[in-house]
Amino acid sequence: MVRKYNVVVVGLGIIGSASLWRLSHSSSNVLGIDAGAPINLSGSSHGASRIFRQAYWEGEAYLPLLSLSGDLWRELENTCDRRLIVETGGLFVGPVASGVVRQSVETARRGNIKHKVLSDTEITRSFPAFQVQAGMEAVYEAGAFTIAADDSKCHMLNVAVRQGAELRFGASVVSIVRSSKGLTLRLSDGVLIHANRVVLATGLGMSTDLISDLSGLIQPKSVPVYWFKPKLNNDRNFARGFPAFLYQLPDGRLLYGTPHIGSEESGIKIGFHNHQQSIFEPEIHRQAVEESCIDEVSACVEQVFPGLNSTPYAHRKCIYTMSCDGSFIVGESVHFPGVFYASACSGHGFKFATGLGDTLAKAALSGVLDESVAIFSAKRFIESSPLYL
Ligand SMILES: Cc1cc2nc3c(=O)[nH]c(=O)nc-3n(C[C@H](O)[C@H](O)[C@H](O)COP(=O)(O)OP(=O)(O)OC[C@H]3O[C@@H](n4cnc5c(N)ncnc54)[C@H](O)[C@@H]3O)c2cc1C
Repeated sequence: MVRKYNVVVVGLGIIGSASLWRLSHSSSNVLGIDAGAPINLSGSSHGASRIFRQAYWEGEAYLPLLSLSGDLWRELENTCDRRLIVETGGLFVGPVASGVVRQSVETARRGNIKHKVLSDTEITRSFPAFQVQAGMEAVYEAGAFTIAADDSKCHMLNVAVRQGAELRFGASVVSIVRSSKGLTLRLSDGVLIHANRVVLATGLGMSTDLISDLSGLIQPKSVPVYWFKPKLNNDRNFARGFPAFLYQLPDGRLLYGTPHIGSEESGIKIGFHNHQQSIFEPEIHRQAVEESCIDEVSACVEQVFPGLNSTPYAHRKCIYTMSCDGSFIVGESVHFPGVFYASACSGHGFKFATGLGDTLAKAALSGVLDESVAIFSAKRFIESSPLYL
């Protein structure tokens, strides 16, 4: 017998898991499906930590969704007996005129986000782990935090199951068609499933042809990430008080990083946000991080964090699913009404997962996508020509 669900969520990275968590509050007849295991390295959501910040240099347009997402991260944590949020604060450093400093201040002022602007000497006094050049500034957002990423995702799925959601791992959805039963999904093992509505959150899978709405609009990129240990054991500069950070170098390269917040992934995690990206090719992605990339990040770490051993003790490749303009794409499929999607989180979507999940869940239950995410509609690309066509 073919099972029929009210809503099926396809892809249980952080966006799909958050959608299922929110759906399970209102409907018990929901199913989540993922091609991989609950924690798998094939998407973008795995790992120990992600940054949440609201003094968003990327622009004030993100503020409403950031505010909703922040509230929901707190709500999630309140239902968990483990720590999902670590109050690390966030330090955003760069040359005075840099986007990271100027635009973080701008968004913080407009959004009434509590922040402090620090001069070069104030940075080194308050955060001695950081070395800055004369004339640099920083924005410190005390309310920014670091999310325990894998733990949060697992907790969302646990709560969803406790509230009646069903889960299926290890089978991918290979087609979605409209049928007399609503929407029919075919899985890779031949199983058919009917659904009234579908939430599609397949990350880089959105670039393939389950629905063609996003074809040509997104491009998965392979990006390395590294872990570094202090030169001195128990160096207090890298312990409690070390913030999540962004650090824009004078030449525009943007480093991000998070402190060690749990038992996984010891040391400081560091990567480039806007650099060392290559077009995702499965074969090449499986190979080790190139020596030239390791040498480059080591040179930057030596310059910015003299107290860290500049040779990373671990590294791996991850995936950014990029849109042409570095923002998100959220909408309802034109070809399959009732299929709501969010993708192309362009390397900064984790923090928004709770808000996006809530919005997608409401859309799947009501049939109407909230206007607040209209700024992320794929329609914005109609007038400009997409880069990846
Ligand atoms: C190294 C790194 C650091 C980052 N740091 C931050 C940060 O500090 N703050 C921040 O906000 N963001 C950060 N991001 C970005 C953020 O992690 C991503 O935007 C987010 O995880 C994307 O989640 P997703 O659910 O859209 O996709 P994914 O995590 O890719 O999940 C998609 C899931 O769909 C499944 N799937 C695919 N196709 C199918 C199919 N046909 N059928 C069934 N299942 C399918 C996959 O198995 C996968 O589990 C970072 C990203 C990386 C890589």
